[in-house]
Amino acid sequence: MKYKTIIGLEIHVELMTNTKIFCSCTNEFGGEINTHTCPVCLGLPGAMPVLNKAVLEYGIKSGIAFNSKIANNTKMDRKNYFYPDLVKGYQISQDEEPLCSGGYIEIELEDGVKTIRLNRIHIEEDTGKSIHTEEGDSLLDYNRAGVPLIEIVTEPDMNTPEEARLFLEKLKSTLEYIEVSDCKMEEGSLRCDININVMDTETGERTNITELKNLNSFRAAVKAMEYEEERHRKLLSQGENTVKETRRWDEIENKTITMREKGEAADFRYVVDGDFLPIIIEEEWIEEIKKNLPELPHDKKARLIREYNIPEYDAGVLTQSRELADFFEKTVEFSKDANQVSNWIMGDVLRRLNDAGLEIKDLKFGPKELADLIELVNEGKISNNIGKKVLRDMFETGKTPETIVKEKGLIQISDAGELEEVINKVLLENQQSIVDYRSGKDRALGFLVGQVMKATRGKANPQMVNKMLKEKLEEE
Ligand SMILES: [Zn+2]
Repeated sequence: MKYKTIIGLEIHVELMTNTKIFCSCTNEFGGEINTHTCPVCLGLPGAMPVLNKAVLEYGIKSGIAFNSKIANNTKMDRKNYFYPDLVKGYQISQDEEPLCSGGYIEIELEDGVKTIRLNRIHIEEDTGKSIHTEEGDSLLDYNRAGVPLIEIVTEPDMNTPEEARLFLEKLKSTLEYIEVSDCKMEEGSLRCDININVMDTETGERTNITELKNLNSFRAAVKAMEYEEERHRKLLSQGENTVKETRRWDEIENKTITMREKGEAADFRYVVDGDFLPIIIEEEWIEEIKKNLPELPHDKKARLIREYNIPEYDAGVLTQSRELADFFEKTVEFSKDANQVSNWIMGDVLRRLNDAGLEIKDLKFGPKELADLIELVNEGKISNNIGKKVLRDMFETGKTPETIVKEKGLIQISDAGELEEVINKVLLENQQSIVDYRSGKDRALGFLVGQVMKATRGKANPQMVNKMLKEKLEEE
């Protein structure tokens, strides 16, 4: 490959602690404008910030989950820059001694596992929010000022937009597993900036890095990266170069648009924030957090394969979200038939959820109901096909499978006497098929089974119908 794409990411994640990072204001999305505020998060003179211990804990949890080295000594720094939504004129962040250094996330590619290295994870405060009105005014809401963030910075180890997407999905599901963030991109709890450029591997020439900002979904991020990859390659092949700049993705125009050119690297005049003592993190505390960390996605995947003997692919899908994995395990507890549970979830349940744009937590029925449905099929009370129809009704109405089966009279007919009556009638009406079958046309059997199923509105036990029909046709 002549051109190599180089992608690095910076991800800001809002932590779901109860209160903000330096004050006791509620840390909650939304709320009436400027009501989640106090002198500290408004940056009033004389107000003293106090670090919320839970923020450190959540940061350490993330560091452990991503294999980082947790610092025993760290500190808070002031990052100076001017922006209307940054009340103090500086952001309290971490410069040279971040809470976590290094680390990695593994992604699964078709040709094996790839390790994406992390540079660091640090804690910092979020800024307020500017609201631009149609009249041209800018209003400021400080509810978000002081919301705790971790910033995760990767090394430029990703070489395709797809690798970046896999990385982001793994990152998101891990953060959800360890319950440090709800990762709602639409509410800004997970925000991703992308650095991308392209290198000509023959000449070693590189384009200038483009920074992509304001991406509000993984889909938008992938589209923006694909667009930039193409743009950089084209310029490079024409002997030109890109401008070092920040661009945003325009969903309507389907392209990236210049936001601002980047001059010299901004000088943030970092300085230790004298409002804080140095932060000392005891090894014991790190160990305790490590001990209490919930099972991570890849561990859960390995356990599901081991414990339930399901295929690796299934285990991968089922562990994509913690809720889905929990739903699977709870259903197995009721049903005891892990393979069937996996098949039903991987098949009809996920397909219906995807089609409706819903998630597992939106289901109108629980694990017990799904287990009951599987039981009905396994016991032969309803056929597999009827089972799928029952599931559709459960999905729409939230009724139990028993209720649906009863209301619609769907119980499978496995009574030999009752089936024989129908079979005799079908044979009487289809004399030609009998002749056909006896002259060696096996297809006629399928047709007759179909007729019996039709006459019973799909309720006849298909195995029994098959067997009984064969016996009858081979009589005489
Ligand atoms: Zn406050």
